[in-house]
Amino acid sequence: MVHRLQWWLQPSLLVVPKHTEWPVLKEIKSWSRNIKKQKNLSDLSLSQAHTPHAEICCFSSRIKYFNSRKMSVFTQQLNPITGKLEWGIQPEDYDYKQEVARSAYADMLHDQERNDKYYEGLRRSIADLRKRGQEVHVLDIGTGTGLLSMMAVACGADSVTACEAFYPMAECARKGLTANECADKVRLVPKRSTEIEVGPGKDMERRANLLVAEVFDTELIGEGAIDTYRHARDVLLTEDALLVPSEGTVYAQVVSSKMLQRWNHIQPVTRIKQGSKEEEVLVSVPECVQRCPGAAAVHDIQLSQVPQEWFTPMSHPLPVFWFDWSGRQKDIPCDETTRVKFKTLASGDCDAVFMWWDLRMDQDGEVMLSCAPYWAHPDLADKSWKGSSEDIPWRDHWMQAVYYLPQPRTVCEDTTFTLLSAHDEYSLWFNIQKDESEDICEERPVCECGIHIANSRTRLGQLNDPRRLEMYVRVLEKYIKPDSVCLALGDGCLMAVAAAKLGARHVYVTEGSDPNRRVIQEFITTNDVQHNVTILSEDVCDTSVEQMVSPATITFSEPFFSTSLLPWHSLYCWYMRNTCLHLLAPGAIRTPGTVTIWGLPVQYRDLWKIRAPLHQCNGFKMDIFDKLIETACEEADERVEPQPLWEYPAKARGYPIRLLTLDLAAPIPENPMTSADSITLPSPGHVNGMALWADWHMTDEPGDALTTGPVEPVALDQYVSWDVYSRQGVYLFKEPVTVDKMQPHTLHYSVTFQPCDGTMVFDFQMKRQTLNDS
Ligand code: SAH
Ligand code: ZN
Repeated sequence: MVHRLQWWLQPSLLVVPKHTEWPVLKEIKSWSRNIKKQKNLSDLSLSQAHTPHAEICCFSSRIKYFNSRKMSVFTQQLNPITGKLEWGIQPEDYDYKQEVARSAYADMLHDQERNDKYYEGLRRSIADLRKRGQEVHVLDIGTGTGLLSMMAVACGADSVTACEAFYPMAECARKGLTANECADKVRLVPKRSTEIEVGPGKDMERRANLLVAEVFDTELIGEGAIDTYRHARDVLLTEDALLVPSEGTVYAQVVSSKMLQRWNHIQPVTRIKQGSKEEEVLVSVPECVQRCPGAAAVHDIQLSQVPQEWFTPMSHPLPVFWFDWSGRQKDIPCDETTRVKFKTLASGDCDAVFMWWDLRMDQDGEVMLSCAPYWAHPDLADKSWKGSSEDIPWRDHWMQAVYYLPQPRTVCEDTTFTLLSAHDEYSLWFNIQKDESEDICEERPVCECGIHIANSRTRLGQLNDPRRLEMYVRVLEKYIKPDSVCLALGDGCLMAVAAAKLGARHVYVTEGSDPNRRVIQEFITTNDVQHNVTILSEDVCDTSVEQMVSPATITFSEPFFSTSLLPWHSLYCWYMRNTCLHLLAPGAIRTPGTVTIWGLPVQYRDLWKIRAPLHQCNGFKMDIFDKLIETACEEADERVEPQPLWEYPAKARGYPIRLLTLDLAAPIPENPMTSADSITLPSPGHVNGMALWADWHMTDEPGDALTTGPVEPVALDQYVSWDVYSRQGVYLFKEPVTVDKMQPHTLHYSVTFQPCDGTMVFDFQMKRQTLNDS
């Protein structure tokens, strides 16, 4: 049975049919990229799930797939807080608005530099064709809202064909073209370009002599650009066609960075020896994990937000791939390996490669669109001063990427090395080599140990976060006695091994995924605690107390579960604990004991653009698209989305507000709990959103709270320093306010926790104060 898989990614989600052949996987990857130009793809995890309709190897909070013939959409929802799986079948006319809303179209359209440079590229290329005395027949591949087609019309093209593979977007383009009075000038073909037929009476009357396309992602080729352009050259374009953009160049810079390695390479858990100042290893890392080249998926990141102290450049930025999109000067290869020599700029470990690209938008190279971080940005090259991220345009639909080398490599300064860069049809990878005689791995690195498959980058970071580890170990040391029996609830919970090493009599640990179960077993063996640790399935209720050495005297959770996207999703530990009360001894210690949900009014410097209406783009009306996004957001159940806020600067426009505290030692309440109040917003200041997070209180002592929010005291009007190993909750106001002394404002807030499904419902309203208020 062939299932055509399509999906719409939630953060940390990739759905892959079991026993999938590699070509299918590739198609899936290209699909997912097409649909969502979103960074969260790198944060994917995989695990097993069996469904009534197919076996799917997945981890998700939401899975959708449909049978190509029947087109009914099955949706599976895994409630991240209660842990319950729910299946639903959506009707044929299932509404895709939410998927559109969650995609990064809005942020892309807010990218003024991108829009302007595409416009300029079109203007110049159309003028060039006119100079040649040719008619201008444009093909716009992946038209989205129809923007580039409308630009081509405005530049005087004779005919324009716009194709779009994502059906809901094609519908949006149809309406947008009508609203902008372009419907009669643009022929819309709701197809993938590779399915277009050329000839009289077909999708396109004739081959086009101008191709405009924006089918690039952070990795440049991850959206399937290679196949799109190869096919266009062979089937859709004239031999002398011009292309906007005409070329693309990929740059790579080798860096040393222990900080970035925390998102890839698992380090041992250490502690300070009691009574001395010496550090000792508490949990050692198994061979297979140490040797593993790590996660294959690109780590896309806002590189301009990475503090300079985090890394040392080991090479200058080097051009490593050059794509001629016309395929005339150079073929567009599906696989390619290049070698570039460089001199090391420092002594140390080469850990990773930073990558970005630029596009040549016209034929002469006068209009360039660069995704470089500020320190390598061509627009800042002649500036004698040190720039900052604010000096270059912000964009989220294209970021920069980090690729980890299969193994860190120690080098001496001023030595010649070769950077090996490779790509296939969709991905890039890198390695370094002393000289060509040296035998090194040229294959794409893939995880061999399982830990990089079962855990997202965010989670890998947590497993290496010194702040977390120090506190967990301190708390465990406080509680664990030689007769302690522990029940650890969580995914990838290496603290279970730590608990055994700290002398617990026995540790039972739950684990939801097969790859993690295997890895934890490796950790158990390596650390020689196989007689003291037992891995349980996630369904702890199936375990009976007779299977244990004795009832648990301590139950702990970090808390983390692979389904936790927002900080409070880890409340799953409360629900899980509730199903295993029969395994606990009377008076058993429960940690964390409470959780506090916090909120902070902020001014997001750039992030507001992901939701703000466009009204217009370069003079073209975008109301249809705005409406689509707006209704989708209103219909969405959660108005809060997870984002790693260290990458998205936000200034505090107030102090943290304690929104709700839940007592996790108590049973889950039967009725909803609401907490509501109001504060006066300090002035002056612009407020466009709330940042939300959770603090987990491991003991009663204030120092034992694990925050997923600010890691330094919050100061008014200053940028906030966030925990870099969590995603915080982002809430954006539809109508931001500017507060000043003449216009005092009150922030009204309420949070409701619904125990039946674990939902947290936030409501924030900013109201201008009237005389009666004061
Ligand atoms: N051109 C628009 C939208 C760019 S987003 C703009 O610049 O604003 C890229 C769009 O291309 C997505 O909507 C994606 O679905 C579509 N796409 C990517 N490859 C495609 C292909 N080969 N054929 C048709 N559509 C494609
Ligand atoms: Zn691995």
